[in-house]
Amino acid sequence: MQLAIQNRFTSELPADINETNEVRKVFHAAFSKLHPTIPSNPKVIHVADEVLKLVGITSEESKSESFLAVFSGKEVYPNTQPFAMCYGGHQFGVWAGQLGDGRAINLFEIENDNQFYTLQLKGAGKTPYSRTADGLAVLRSSIREYLCAEAMYYLGVPTTRSLSLIASGDKVLRDVLYNGNPAYENGAIVCRVAPSFIRFGNFELFASRNDIENLKKLTDYTILHHFAEIQSEGKQKYLDFFERVANTTRKMVVEWQRVGFVHGVMNTDNMSIHGITIDYGPYGWLEDYNPDWTPNTTDSGQRRYRFGQQPQITLWNLYQLANALYPLINETEGLEAILNAYEEHYEKEYIAMMRNKLGLILELDSDAVLIHQLTNHLAAIETDMTIFFRLLSSISKDDSPEIGIEKIAYSFYNPEKVKGEVASVWSIWFANYLNRLQLEKIGDAARKINMNVVNPKYVFRNYMAQLAIDEADKENYTLVDELYKLLKNPYEEQPENEKWFAKRPNWAKEKVGCSQLSCSS
Ligand code: AMP
Ligand code: MG
Ligand code: MG
Repeated sequence: MQLAIQNRFTSELPADINETNEVRKVFHAAFSKLHPTIPSNPKVIHVADEVLKLVGITSEESKSESFLAVFSGKEVYPNTQPFAMCYGGHQFGVWAGQLGDGRAINLFEIENDNQFYTLQLKGAGKTPYSRTADGLAVLRSSIREYLCAEAMYYLGVPTTRSLSLIASGDKVLRDVLYNGNPAYENGAIVCRVAPSFIRFGNFELFASRNDIENLKKLTDYTILHHFAEIQSEGKQKYLDFFERVANTTRKMVVEWQRVGFVHGVMNTDNMSIHGITIDYGPYGWLEDYNPDWTPNTTDSGQRRYRFGQQPQITLWNLYQLANALYPLINETEGLEAILNAYEEHYEKEYIAMMRNKLGLILELDSDAVLIHQLTNHLAAIETDMTIFFRLLSSISKDDSPEIGIEKIAYSFYNPEKVKGEVASVWSIWFANYLNRLQLEKIGDAARKINMNVVNPKYVFRNYMAQLAIDEADKENYTLVDELYKLLKNPYEEQPENEKWFAKRPNWAKEKVGCSQLSCSS
């Protein structure tokens, strides 16, 4: 296996002086050198063909012994230095101090087609940042991360990518009980790919320690290599950087709201500087549209990271990044201006996104009301978000409100509840929507095409992940591959896969793993 290796991060930024995997506090360093834990019996479960191409690995090479060895952590690729990054973060709104890559190990950067990619193993053993945990990942969370990142990519949501899913052959203990007892689970290692894995928390940690020298080094490095279009100097350079991060991060969240993705742990250590979705832990997909829903059981009281609050939390997280960058700028005006513009931008982008979902092209002020009423109705009785919007595209301008309701009726979890007042509320909304469609020049067929490229037919529903996991526990990975292929074309009609265009089954509503998960996956 021939790789076009680059080691910019490790060669240009300060390293921890100790080179052991021992857990510790690390100061004045951006990363620690280490060695992944050698897995006892690694086996490739799945490889993402498109990501292979992206980083310049052939499909032939992906079947080699050296691929298995490098991407399971068994062997270090020649002339590279694996490392864990040092970062901090605000967890659930509270400053948590040093966190760092506790179970992520960066292998190297690859340059391919003039693009740089960092390849990182998740679950390859303890690092100086593992604190009290084991540095490992279980198969079920690895399948969830592996498939979801790819599903998000094909949905058009900015995200880290997945290269490979490998069983480690080792056993891992987690908090899930089987028949009332803790039990060992199969371990796995995912290799994920991103421009870099630099997070808000990398900047926050230096700033919190008043280590301005290294804060500046890290920021200059990030701008030079990842925001090369920034040509300004001095304070303006850092403001331009912050503005770009604010913009891409905001746009990412608009996309989450479009597809019904709930991240679940939007701590600042889980916020990428590239505005891409990172760290697929206890995430979940909205099935019935419920802005109050969070998949994270660790957050079930406060519900800080619920679907409807993701845009506000993003802004809160951007405030923390602004605070961290402040020492490089030493005045608040520019930073505040960017933060103050967030809500206005978000509101506009959200309305534009929802207009697209509704197939509206003209921009009318009254659309905000139409959209607001719709989301209220969707939340009022259990209605499947994905199915509702997908079916809505089959509406015709000439339909009556009653026909309109009939066309989307499959999205109601309890159709028998759609009577009396509920039916009349929907009827009024459809009448308004149909009137609104009359104002558009575009015909039914063209509108349907427009709507079907923003309203996915297939998303990675929580229960689908669980079905793949249940099979994988028996060493059957057919469903992992089937879902991987399905989710590569989420907007296309796939008649042979119609069974996945279905509401969450009843059994999945309360089953652990299908609805909610804890942080320690
Ligand atoms: P998360 O909530 O997954 O973003 O993790 C928060 C912090 O805990 C990060 O520093 C992780 O690296 C660390 N962490 C999570 N799971 C493990 C694990 N199994 N072993 C070691 N560190 C972990
Ligand atoms: Mg994390
Ligand atoms: Mg995590």
